Amino acid sequence: MDKKYIPELEKIVGPENVITSFEERLTYSYDSTRLEYLPDVAVKVRDAQQISSIIKLANDYNIPVTPRGAATGLSGGCLAVKGGISLVMVEMNKVLDINPIDLLITVEAGIVTEKVSKAVEHLKLFYPPDPGSMKSSTIGGNIAENAGGLRGLKYGVTKDYINSIEVVLPTGEIVNMGSNTVKAVTGYNLVDLMCGSEGTLGIITKATLGLLPVPADKVSILAFFKDMTDAAKTVRDIVAEGVITATLEIVDKVTINAIEDFLKIGLDRTVGAMLLIEVDGQKGAVEIEADIVMKVCSANNALLVRRAKNDKERDELWAARRAALSSLSRIKPSTILEDATVQRSKMVELINAVNEIAKKYNMLIGTFGHAGDGNLHPTILTDLRIPEEAEKTEKVIEEIFNATIALGGTLSGEHGIGITKARYLKLELSKPVYDLMKKIKNSFDPDNILNPGKMECNWDF
Ligand SMILES: Cc1cc2nc3c(=O)[nH]c(=O)nc-3n(C[C@H](O)[C@H](O)[C@H](O)COP(=O)(O)OP(=O)(O)OC[C@H]3O[C@@H](n4cnc5c(N)ncnc54)[C@H](O)[C@@H]3O)c2cc1C
Repeated sequence: MDKKYIPELEKIVGPENVITSFEERLTYSYDSTRLEYLPDVAVKVRDAQQISSIIKLANDYNIPVTPRGAATGLSGGCLAVKGGISLVMVEMNKVLDINPIDLLITVEAGIVTEKVSKAVEHLKLFYPPDPGSMKSSTIGGNIAENAGGLRGLKYGVTKDYINSIEVVLPTGEIVNMGSNTVKAVTGYNLVDLMCGSEGTLGIITKATLGLLPVPADKVSILAFFKDMTDAAKTVRDIVAEGVITATLEIVDKVTINAIEDFLKIGLDRTVGAMLLIEVDGQKGAVEIEADIVMKVCSANNALLVRRAKNDKERDELWAARRAALSSLSRIKPSTILEDATVQRSKMVELINAVNEIAKKYNMLIGTFGHAGDGNLHPTILTDLRIPEEAEKTEKVIEEIFNATIALGGTLSGEHGIGITKARYLKLELSKPVYDLMKKIKNSFDPDNILNPGKMECNWDF
């Protein structure tokens, strides 16, 4: 590619922030899918004005621009699939304002998710969305993917906490969307449109996010079951008993063993499934809810149900859950993490379907996920370097998606479509809806320079 725009980029951000060497660009060619696309140049940015100038330049030269947060994405969203500029956001990482009266915090988009809660800890406040990747993911990436997390059942997902955002549009204008009032219905809800737009409609540069008071008390409960079916029934029954737990996570036998191999924390390898549950709230209420949860576990044949002995054990258990994916990814050369999501009432059927598919193809699948949200992560452990394995994996993925959609579910609960799920869009969306999405994209980005090649499905395929 003709790179005569490089000196102009250097003028905008300084030569030290324009990365052109092959070795350094490699760093920006991956995300957590482990797919690889080399950008022509990576550019580290520090404010909205710089981004606006880069976008205008990109329009002039018709160069693709792909925003990149921490690259923890699991659908290939930040990969520069058409080359061009990888826009590196992580140095825009400041806390700009904390407003404890209105329960708001304003941050730059490249800040690491966990740092948002850390910034308000001293005020006994917290930012609820807590993706498993929160120690590295960025708020911009979370908004672009509408990330969920372990606390989703009680506290919701990223979109429930965005009051307003500053965005650089694909035409270079810097605009504000949303309002910092509790209620606001002026015009279309563009904040919700941006949330989950996977970096295709605009570059988020700042966000004002909602906060909540830290609950006075919490109890973590661990329950083991002989199989996933009993565990999934328990999830359904806990909610049916009127208890909305803060977290309700499920882990299957393959994943329990992978975690134990990795962390050696004494998990029982013989059980078929584990639930990790946390209830939080006011002191007395938490005790009552914890008792109900433990009774429901026992009524569903839990082999063992107990509270975490102390804070240390509680922290270890949650660290273990957060290590599920890294633990599984040590088993085989390729790890394909899916994101199938159904209504909670259909989770038993989805688990059974995944087990059947694993058996049919003799494929090792570890399943864990946010069971309270009906959001499972069947993780296919395979070796894509072997052609027969790659072919089998494709079939397994397609069958999991077919089963999910047949149960009234959705292709992605939180990881987005990006490139890895784009070809399956037509399983879920109607053609008129897909066409409407494309018209929205076109009205934001007439030259198609922002993150091209994402959420694009060949309908005739
Ligand atoms: C171990 C592990 C656990 C995970 N657990 C969860 C989980 O519990 N819940 C969950 O939802 N996800 C989870 N994920 C997936 C991932 O962390 C999220 O999708 C996260 O939101 C991505 O953030 P990021 O900063 O890494 O974004 P990236 O991967 O860099 O980018 C993701 C998308 O956002 C766009 N983007 C990035 N920054 C901006 C910006 N400022 N403006 C516009 N677009 C932007 C990119 O173009 C891309 O399309 C997990 C991933 C891993 C590896």
